[in-house]
Amino acid sequence: DAANKKGHIVMVPYMAHGHIIPFLALARLIQQRTNFTITIANTPLNIQYLRSALSSPDQIRLAELPFNATQHGLPPNIENTENLPLTHVIHLSHSSLSLEAPFRSLISQITQEDGKPPLCTISDVFLSWVNNVAKSLGTRNLTFTTCGAYGTLAYVSIWSNLPHRKTDSDEFWVPGFPQNYRFHRTQLHKYLRAADGTDEWSRFFIPQIALSVESDGWICNTVEDIEPLGLQLLRKYLGVPVWSVGPVLPPDALKGSKHRAGKEPGITLEACMEWLDLKDENSVVYISFGSQNTISASQMMALAEGLEESGRSFIWVIRPPFGFDMNGEFREEWLPKGFEERMKDTNSGLMVHKWGPQLEILSHRSTGAFLSHCGWNSVLESLSNGVPIIGWPLAAEQAYNVKMLVEEMGVAVELTRTVESVISGEQVRKIIEIVMDRQGKGKEMKEKANEVAAHMRNATKENNQEKGSSVRAMDDLVRNILS
Ligand code: UDP
Repeated sequence: DAANKKGHIVMVPYMAHGHIIPFLALARLIQQRTNFTITIANTPLNIQYLRSALSSPDQIRLAELPFNATQHGLPPNIENTENLPLTHVIHLSHSSLSLEAPFRSLISQITQEDGKPPLCTISDVFLSWVNNVAKSLGTRNLTFTTCGAYGTLAYVSIWSNLPHRKTDSDEFWVPGFPQNYRFHRTQLHKYLRAADGTDEWSRFFIPQIALSVESDGWICNTVEDIEPLGLQLLRKYLGVPVWSVGPVLPPDALKGSKHRAGKEPGITLEACMEWLDLKDENSVVYISFGSQNTISASQMMALAEGLEESGRSFIWVIRPPFGFDMNGEFREEWLPKGFEERMKDTNSGLMVHKWGPQLEILSHRSTGAFLSHCGWNSVLESLSNGVPIIGWPLAAEQAYNVKMLVEEMGVAVELTRTVESVISGEQVRKIIEIVMDRQGKGKEMKEKANEVAAHMRNATKENNQEKGSSVRAMDDLVRNILS
């Protein structure tokens, strides 16, 4: 059996939990079906985090790549986007280039020990220098994009072509998409909107993205049947194999797990579950902007007003607004007067400070909608539970995800974009009504979200007679690695 042939795979995720966790999950999927040795390489503190996330059946090896944050203008001991203001994230990205030399040494050392080079490396889309290392040391590199296919294509193509710089119009076509597709300038993060090749964002992303398209293949955290268009376009654009092996979620996510990304929740899991247990089915709006983002103070005020006016129950994972220390003290003045007490007294809102047990909340039967920044992990976690989405994209490829969720999948509506937009409580109230209304559009979105959830379940069926598409893609990926 080909899969029983010994060999080594070396993986290197970008230094963010939203990347490290899917990489670990992918490593486990490969480990389950092969006896490859798998090594995940990263900076010391990320390796420490990974070590704490490993469980006893894991045979995964961890390799530390020396890294000194202060040498790169980062605060001491910062090696991850967590706790890092967005303005500093670009420094972390630039600093990741310093990992190339120690990574090269690691591959040489593995080659020496094993008597042959690794079967392949698997790198993050932002760490495309791994392609150079792999090629020069006699192996291949695959890129694992922790995003969806549509979002990956839009992200890669916009950075490669900067189409918005070639027109005065707010709307523009993105190479790789059908001719009649239009993206809007407001869907671009402000750094990308302004990118001209000389700023620090361009200087990192343009060369890394250019190198990424030289990978020998791509692994995508998505499902054939939920993103047929995105996958078809991405395959055509890249011209190399793209395996869709998703949803690669933190362990047991589909069942509602006890897993948390290494952090304690702002409120206990039990308290959240007890609160949800007393609510009606599909009656609660869950609100969270992921692990790195937060909205502005005026947006936070409008969101609170809209929630209160809607009269709907909600759980809100809340952090200090944009411009303040995300992990700092929360000030009452950021919310309408008496808001938290009123929500508590009327039992209509549960405020969870800093970090919530997202998977458990999304898989609870009382949760009826998710107001989300639409980071891809959040999207998969929501849809795998059949929960429709209210989109509020803030960064990265999130706005492209929302475009697809609205136009292709019909499982979302978009409230607003970016941290700079002006919104009113009334806008918030209206959109909540649309999604929570179990007639009309809300009903349609719920049905579509349930269909997507069914596609996801089918894709991961391991049953030999009717293997799901993601399982077949994993088999094919392993065959390809061995070829
Ligand atoms: N997450 C969580 N609790 C929170 C915020 C985030 O458990 O309060 C988890 C969430 O379940 C998801 C990840 O953090 O797995 C966020 O990843 P995503 O791709 O959605 O967004 P990012 O944080 O990368 O912007």
